[in-house]
Amino acid sequence: MEGPDMNEGGPPARLWHTVPQPSWSTPPDPGRSDLDPEDWPGTRRQAHRMLDDILDYVEGIRSRPTWQPMPAEARARLREPLPLQAAPLAEIHAAFLRDVLPYATGNVHPGFLGWVHGGGTVAGLLGEMLAGGLNANLGGRDHAPIEVERQILAWVREIFRFPEGASGLFVTGTSMANFLGVLVARRAALGEAVRTEGLGADGLRLRAYASRAVHSCVPRALDMAGLGAQALRQLPTAPGGGLDLDALRLALAEDRAAGFQPFLVVGTAGTVDTGAVDDLAAIADLCAREELWFHVDGAFGALAILAPARAGLLRGIERADSLAFDFHKWGQVPYDAGYLLVRDGDMHRATFATPAAYLRRETRGMAAGSPWPTDLGPDLSRGFRALKTWFTLKAYGLERLGHTIEETCALATYLEARIKATPELELLAPVPLNIVCFRHRGEDPDALNARIAVRVQESGLAAPSTTVLNGKLALRAAIVNHRTRREDLDRLLQAVLALAKD
Ligand SMILES: *Cc1c(COP(=O)(O)O)cnc(C)c1O
Repeated sequence: MEGPDMNEGGPPARLWHTVPQPSWSTPPDPGRSDLDPEDWPGTRRQAHRMLDDILDYVEGIRSRPTWQPMPAEARARLREPLPLQAAPLAEIHAAFLRDVLPYATGNVHPGFLGWVHGGGTVAGLLGEMLAGGLNANLGGRDHAPIEVERQILAWVREIFRFPEGASGLFVTGTSMANFLGVLVARRAALGEAVRTEGLGADGLRLRAYASRAVHSCVPRALDMAGLGAQALRQLPTAPGGGLDLDALRLALAEDRAAGFQPFLVVGTAGTVDTGAVDDLAAIADLCAREELWFHVDGAFGALAILAPARAGLLRGIERADSLAFDFHKWGQVPYDAGYLLVRDGDMHRATFATPAAYLRRETRGMAAGSPWPTDLGPDLSRGFRALKTWFTLKAYGLERLGHTIEETCALATYLEARIKATPELELLAPVPLNIVCFRHRGEDPDALNARIAVRVQESGLAAPSTTVLNGKLALRAAIVNHRTRREDLDRLLQAVLALAKD
């Protein structure tokens, strides 16, 4: 008989055929309770139609409006009583095609320039479909989907030049990754006691630092970590839009003199407002000297490392203690696919790992393969976000994804030039990456530009969003979608100029 010990290094041999079969006969099945199709061929045809329809949607996306408001009838049709009885798949799909698909966010469309949204890819879509079929739970245990997630970690480490011991975890998005980063930094500052006894007096003295351009999820992360949002000091920016390091040094000295304990600096690689990048190398130097945790919010900007001409802006990112970023923005992976990378994997595990009898680890069998992803974050059950990411990275290759990132920056430069050449328009911030903030110079510009944004969105021609820069309401075009071309930006400007009039 083959046994595991005769099978050096390889997987243990299958033993099932050596187990005697039961001698009783199975009683007849009283009735079906499973949820699998009764008509597999019909279901298969329906499934192929659904796949075709969604591929048609992506292929023909340019023929649709960027976004359209949902009509009251469609909204009303989605309000239904509890579905107590079964309905045919074809009918549900028809409702989806009628009431959901036309009124989606719009970010698949090349005219979508609002906020910072990725465009998604066909390879990612297909990966997501396959993940749905596998129904894998990536909290832990020993199986291939976990190996795929580990492969992504190895690639992420290589991309950002992090050491072997660095750990990583897929999460919903950078909001969550920033929160987990703060928790790891808090654990590093306060030791094991923070996990058993809570913050205590020491915890309440912790202070963190970032520029005023930091994303709002960072103060919220400090709030959720029990430190209070005010534990984050939001400091002035230097002329280029990055964190003002003199202001940081001053704040550290002030806070120490007042009895606070600085523990964390959050650098931003690509601010959400303008795409400004902090001087990450200088922050890394300062954090090393002052023994502070250096976390980088690189939600979209971190992946600029894939674009050779932009990578220099991120110098120092490889020295972060932790890095949060999204595959679902510039990485074009379908939502959601956020990621946290932590240099000191042991500290990462020490922040979250919790023993439990029912999660006991073994060296063989399904409970092997420790550590598990559940040791690195708050989730136990987790989906297979890694698969759509694996498909996307492999199907396009990092060079092509980097080229797409470079192209979106080149498009931003094009838009910037067109704005500068249009007397009615005014550029409101430098354009280091892919975000362009501008406005119409007409009368009462704040109200006018807010109105323009809504009108352009409702026209379906393009979808900018707004922000406020130095007290001025700005139209904001974040070019993230790999499908966006010059003509989409021309259409945006035409719409802005035309809709400013009435
Ligand atoms: C988008 C963004 C976030 C939030 O990321 P989510 O994936 O939406 O949670 C945080 N920081 C910056 C700079 C962002 O652009």
